Amino acid sequence: MAGIDIEGLSTVYPNGVRAVDGLDLSVADGEFFALLGPSGCGKTTLLRTIAGLENASAGKVRIDSTDVTRLEPGKRGVAMVFQDYALFPHMTVSENITYPLKVRRAPVAQRDEAARRTSEELSLQGLLERRPGQLSGGQQQRVALARAIASEGKVLLLDEPLSNLDARLRLEARTFLKKLQRDLGITTVFVTHDQAEALALADKIAVMQSGKLRQLGSPREVFARPANTFVANFIGSTPMNLLDGTIEPEGVRLPGGSLPAATGSLPVGASVTVGVRPEYLTVSPSGPGLQGVVVVTENLGTISLVTVDCDGTLIGATVPEEDEPAPGTPVSLMAAAPRVLLYDKESGELLAQ
Ligand code: ADP
Ligand code: MG
Repeated sequence: MAGIDIEGLSTVYPNGVRAVDGLDLSVADGEFFALLGPSGCGKTTLLRTIAGLENASAGKVRIDSTDVTRLEPGKRGVAMVFQDYALFPHMTVSENITYPLKVRRAPVAQRDEAARRTSEELSLQGLLERRPGQLSGGQQQRVALARAIASEGKVLLLDEPLSNLDARLRLEARTFLKKLQRDLGITTVFVTHDQAEALALADKIAVMQSGKLRQLGSPREVFARPANTFVANFIGSTPMNLLDGTIEPEGVRLPGGSLPAATGSLPVGASVTVGVRPEYLTVSPSGPGLQGVVVVTENLGTISLVTVDCDGTLIGATVPEEDEPAPGTPVSLMAAAPRVLLYDKESGELLAQ
């Protein structure tokens, strides 16, 4: 088992695209680590640079404390699962799984044992003699995982392994993957553009934008305390409210009223962007806070998202499904001070509070 340390890492493609731009991060031994960000932000490039499939233009990659920046892929001790699985179509499942061991000239007995063990771990018994074309998408995905695990790398790199599965299968595969990673205890870097997947699976999340790291933290931290408005916008199943506000002695002035906030040393009258998640706003028929009128409600299962017009600004809040107010109802919105985050209006960075 091993950790990964990335220091000042940049990967620039020959056409000049700086896909990874001065990145620093560490993945702890045994951690399930998610690289999260919108399409094109450099996730695949970062993973491929860790694996040695792309050359770092600057900086270092260390695996298990060894500098591997200039090592060829086969010598880094990494196992990678590609987004399209990259199975060999002419080989059987068993041959696919044991291919990396064959390349390393492992004895046949060791290869057979690896095929038997990983096919058990990944519920592929009975499929070992089939070819990839005779498997479902979910089965192909498990073969790709089995091949990576059988190669006994120190770290597992997964590039959007669930993105080719349909919604229902994807949820099952997600649970399966989490359990497998926990059972094996192998350091895993998992790429996804799906924030819900990252929140559900990861011990730690790195949120990327344009090749740069925008926040590193636990799922709880990136959800409850986004470090900037980019992360605030990107994380969460319901969009975080980002509102124009003005600092008051005990909080912030917003459309429709005021909310308490830890304003620290910010001067009264200063303009800020106020971030508050719909999940942290309570809706009552009347009371302190923001006054508004319900415009529309959306049922999200056990909760409803209520959109409230406060002085012409639309603000979202969630309520238990059974407490859903009817459109046209006057309501008050309130949040606890620690849930009301203040961001710099220009840079979008969280202001120290
Ligand atoms: P992600 O996996 O987050 O979608 P990528 O790492 O694939 O992002 O791409 C990051 C950036 O690098 C994008 O602007 C993409 O167009 C560019 N890019 C990716 N692969 C190459 C390549 N082989 N040559 C040139 N540019 C590339
Ligand atoms: Mg990608």
